[in-house]
Amino acid sequence: TDPSIIRNFCIIAHIDHGKSTLADRMLQLTGVVGEREAKAQYLDRMDIERERGITIKSQAVRLPWTVKADNEQGAEPGTYILNMIDTPGHVDFTYEVSRSLQACEAAILLVDAAQGIEAQTLANLYLAMGADLTIIPVLNKIDLPSANVEKYALELANLVGCEPEDVLLTSAKTGLGVEALLNEVVKQVPAPVGDPDAPARALIFDSVYDTYRGVVTYVRVFDGHLTHRDKIKMMSTNALHEMLEIGVISPEPMKCASLGVGETGYLITGVKDVRQSRVGDTVTVNGRPALEALGGYEHPTPMVFAGLYPIDGDDYPTLREALEKLQLNDAALTFEPETSGALGFGFRCGFLGLLHMEITRERLEREFNLDLISTAPNVVYQVVLDDGREIVVTNPSEYPDGKIAEVREPIVKATVLAPSDYIGTIMELCQQKRGTLLGMDYLSEDRVEMRYTLPMGEIAFDFFDQLKSKTKGYASLNYELSGEQASDLVKVDILLQGEPVDAFSAIVHKDAAYSYGLMMAGKLKDLIPRQQFEVPIQAAIGARVIARETIRAIRKDVLAKCYGGDISRKRKLLEKQKEGKKRMKMVGRVEVPQEAFVAALSTT
Ligand code: GDP
Ligand code: MG
Repeated sequence: TDPSIIRNFCIIAHIDHGKSTLADRMLQLTGVVGEREAKAQYLDRMDIERERGITIKSQAVRLPWTVKADNEQGAEPGTYILNMIDTPGHVDFTYEVSRSLQACEAAILLVDAAQGIEAQTLANLYLAMGADLTIIPVLNKIDLPSANVEKYALELANLVGCEPEDVLLTSAKTGLGVEALLNEVVKQVPAPVGDPDAPARALIFDSVYDTYRGVVTYVRVFDGHLTHRDKIKMMSTNALHEMLEIGVISPEPMKCASLGVGETGYLITGVKDVRQSRVGDTVTVNGRPALEALGGYEHPTPMVFAGLYPIDGDDYPTLREALEKLQLNDAALTFEPETSGALGFGFRCGFLGLLHMEITRERLEREFNLDLISTAPNVVYQVVLDDGREIVVTNPSEYPDGKIAEVREPIVKATVLAPSDYIGTIMELCQQKRGTLLGMDYLSEDRVEMRYTLPMGEIAFDFFDQLKSKTKGYASLNYELSGEQASDLVKVDILLQGEPVDAFSAIVHKDAAYSYGLMMAGKLKDLIPRQQFEVPIQAAIGARVIARETIRAIRKDVLAKCYGGDISRKRKLLEKQKEGKKRMKMVGRVEVPQEAFVAALSTT
């Protein structure tokens, strides 16, 4: 294909501003998806994506588009090929967004006309500007009665540096303005440039495992071309793969003979694991390899760790298989076996963030029919020992006892956008979470952008929920990792009758240790039934007890309730008691029902 008729663009937006809906509308308008097959959010293929209404994996679709002779936008009439890449909007998946951006020349910056600019609008815009993309500002949802087109067009224009009249207006829902938008894409987006005669270089911007076809690798060709006969080479590893199929998505896969400069499409090479076909890597042709890879290539690194355990110990092998299967499609997911005295056999899993963790857990439970317990998530700590050795702690149980010179924790740069009425509330919350204010700007009269550094460990848990509830849902948050800092951190252990329960150990800031200990001890007191003897529950830092509760003893005699009478009833009770015992875990001499662990962990 002649690159001069190609336009590659992506749509970036804060979550829920209408990206996927706009993408659907474009599919329909260009005739790629018929009116009848158009189910909502065609591109959000995973069930979870559709239910939660969020986009996890990027998708790229080829749209044929004919610009009419007398179009109002003044675009050059003719037939074009538009390649649209739908990007994920959540902060956990920023890495995928930034890779998809590298595959485009332009970004449609979509803003909800009833909401205005939000934190991820900014974050995505900065990524797009960093990638030197042409920005097309669009206000969406102008059909809403609550839309304030004038106000937000001005806000958006100020942000991208254009006139308010240059901001395009659409309703992805009704289709209003979408045809004009496509014409503007043709007019404003530069055609791709590359050297057709150079050795082939294509950027991998997505990679998906498919049960039937193996790994499907999505690429954007920058130089040369790839054909279905080529043997390809991954430039980060020098691994060679046979090409089994090459094609374009429109919106179902369609085989083709080759992909040239500026084109996006897919490759199938028969590899079984997305880690062999990593996002950000450069593909070249083995017969005539390129010397230099495209752009920078980053490994996604897990930031949040948690233990995952099957509630039924017999499910352990199923959990392993399930994790292996998910990993085929998720290069960022890591896991290794771990054992817990309290929870049995399970896995220590690493995630990009809390949403990534939640989605993974939900998929495990749903797609593999597993019931799971997860331990409280924690970030990665660097611990420097007195003798100068440095260890990386991803699990509180590996935290060294004593002899610690310094502990460092990851910190993030966070941006909060909110109505200015909430400045005080937000400051208070961030202070509570050990944040430092870096700066504050007014975006308009009544909206501010506040920038903080915060420990990742504080943000990773309930920060976002609290922020939302304290600002009645009006604040939005974005953050990125920004190095590490030394902090006063301690490990708090929870002991039952002097025995530590590993699943409840947590690494927390010194000032929060007491309240964590008190909370866990209080919870367990309510959750663990009385035993034949008194059970002290203690929270301790090393040998120092910081909080204590006691479960008083009872004589547990269920038969006493039966007034000596009915013998079959007695037997039933005894059997029931036995059954109950099976689901008990022993911590020292203390019987703890499985449910107590689940309940204590589910609410932390
Ligand atoms: P995304 O998270 O940016 O992909 O947003 P979605 O496309 O999933 O849209 C979020 C919600 O906004 C959905 O309920 C859509 O139906 C709705 N929506 C999207 N575009 C419009 C629009 O132009 N007008 C109205 N009224 N609703 C819209
Ligand atoms: Mg979406």
